[in-house]
Amino acid sequence: MSIQRLTLDTIGKIAAGEVIERPAAAVRELVENSIDAGATRIEVVIEMGGIARLEVGDNGLGIAAEEMPLAIERHATSKITLLEDLDELQTLGFRGEALASLAAVSDLTLQSRHADERQGTELRIRHGADLRIEPRAWNAGTTVIARELFGNVPARRKFLRLDATEAGYVSRVVGAYALAYPGIALSLEIDGRSTLRTDGRGDPLGAAVGVWGADVAERMVTIATPVDSEHEGYLVSGIVSLADLDRATRQQQFFFAQGRLITSRQLSTAFSQAYATLLLAGRHPIGCIQIWVPPDRIDVNVHPTKAEVRFADERLVFALVQRSVREALLDTTMAIPTVAVHTAPIAADAMQRHLSLANPVRMPRDAAHWAELDLHGAGGSAVGGTAYDATPPEAHVYAGGTQIPLLRVLGQVAAMFIVAEGPDGMYLVDQHAAHERIMFERLLDGYVRRSPDQQLLLEPLQVSLSPSQLQMFEQCADELAGIGFDVDVFGQSGVLVRAVPAILRIRDAAAALVTILDELQSGGRGTTRLESLAISAACHTSIRAGQPLSLIEMRDLVRQLEACASPLACGHGRPTIIRMSPDDLARQFSRR
Ligand code: ADP
Ligand code: MG
Repeated sequence: MSIQRLTLDTIGKIAAGEVIERPAAAVRELVENSIDAGATRIEVVIEMGGIARLEVGDNGLGIAAEEMPLAIERHATSKITLLEDLDELQTLGFRGEALASLAAVSDLTLQSRHADERQGTELRIRHGADLRIEPRAWNAGTTVIARELFGNVPARRKFLRLDATEAGYVSRVVGAYALAYPGIALSLEIDGRSTLRTDGRGDPLGAAVGVWGADVAERMVTIATPVDSEHEGYLVSGIVSLADLDRATRQQQFFFAQGRLITSRQLSTAFSQAYATLLLAGRHPIGCIQIWVPPDRIDVNVHPTKAEVRFADERLVFALVQRSVREALLDTTMAIPTVAVHTAPIAADAMQRHLSLANPVRMPRDAAHWAELDLHGAGGSAVGGTAYDATPPEAHVYAGGTQIPLLRVLGQVAAMFIVAEGPDGMYLVDQHAAHERIMFERLLDGYVRRSPDQQLLLEPLQVSLSPSQLQMFEQCADELAGIGFDVDVFGQSGVLVRAVPAILRIRDAAAALVTILDELQSGGRGTTRLESLAISAACHTSIRAGQPLSLIEMRDLVRQLEACASPLACGHGRPTIIRMSPDDLARQFSRR
């Protein structure tokens, strides 16, 4: 085929596909337009995943009658005039493409009345043709209705998912904007059913109730730019989940840069890392985090859907996010999770099942279906929030504050749990998780004091390592030495171990070292390499589940746990201790 110029119509349809790739993208553009128009109320309605019909109505400024045709013209915008304006951008839109794109690929109706005008206008355009404009009586504000999305672009239509999936994407976008703009009352209706509604009163946690429900919102906290931040123009705010609320996916993590929803794997990672040692591997926090940077330190024009941005100071941004989240978590009083049992017979059964589970350490979390973990447990004092990233180990180890009461050890159950009595009921301590927490803190403590307790081996031990293990060793040799290992490279592919941390009960130094290096290599669990190392070393040398303990050993373990800075979870984030209040017990025995 010879080279030919594409018609404007074809160019328009190709470009439209870039901006509006699916119904959720259209909804996002329209909601952003409403926000730019100063709306305080935005209503979103979709039918059949938004493909049959999607509608966004607002009470914003509206569009002047004479500008209605311009609104749907490509590259026509009221928001910038020059490229330089992007550096000072105050609005979410600037490309002037959204309405034009929608006009090209749907049956579009645009209804609007400008606040200064008495008469409104309705504009209708079907797949880029048959333009009709008529005066109408509307309330001030704008409503955009797109029907038969991609009706004229079968290729695109084919790539859409099931209606329910598309509706899910829409729901995610609306939820995100509802959380990020608590001052706007946002609502979403899917196939006639209201699925989301915020009150617009400006309280972020109030918006969370509208999006996630009261149960979830109760377990969220607000975050703020770290206090010692000396970076003018950089702001972090938002809401994030406490460590007892997590999800299997990152679906409910929202990041906003300069007020617009973005996707960023690095930000997601920074967010999760703030929960290191608090959440189980494979579980993710939820939240909505807003980042503001000086306008000239961000490039928002990287992608037609504006879903990606570039920060000039990426690492600073990630560090600020991580610290603000971490500080909020540490500031929040974390009480011992209480096990509140619903009904006696079910609970007794389920308890039995759980106690005989092969993997006992997961019990408190799995226990959710028979019991409720709530946070109104024994009053623990707050952990002092200290700077996290800059001085990682200190912050953690000296966070201070006893959080578990003095306990009287009664005995051991199933060679896994220590039963104790405390001021507020019965306590169960997971012996492995507890010991792991103790070891973890003591290792970091030795590191911070620069005097780890070492135990010399009777004879230096030669250990051969794979090239990748050796490489890992070279990277973390300082940290290993800092927690008490004395290891040197020896020969071509091996190391010589002379001493190990005395506090760890290391029987097989070679196996311990290799395991630690392997775990570090596969990512590690901590925020820093040092933390990962300590977690790994602590885990593999702690008292196992299944090990019978004498009363003296148990008392000793509980005393040490009481002395920990953050005694409530092991390095992997599993709970170390749970409580049953006298009330719960009384209910179990039908005394209430
Ligand atoms: P952009 O938002 O990038 O300017 P759009 O195609 O989304 O481009 O919108 C084109 C223009 O239409 C906007 O610049 C704005 O002037 C007007 N407009 C669109 N939606 C609304 C709305 N909900 N309320 C008021 N004006 C709107
Ligand atoms: Mg726009």
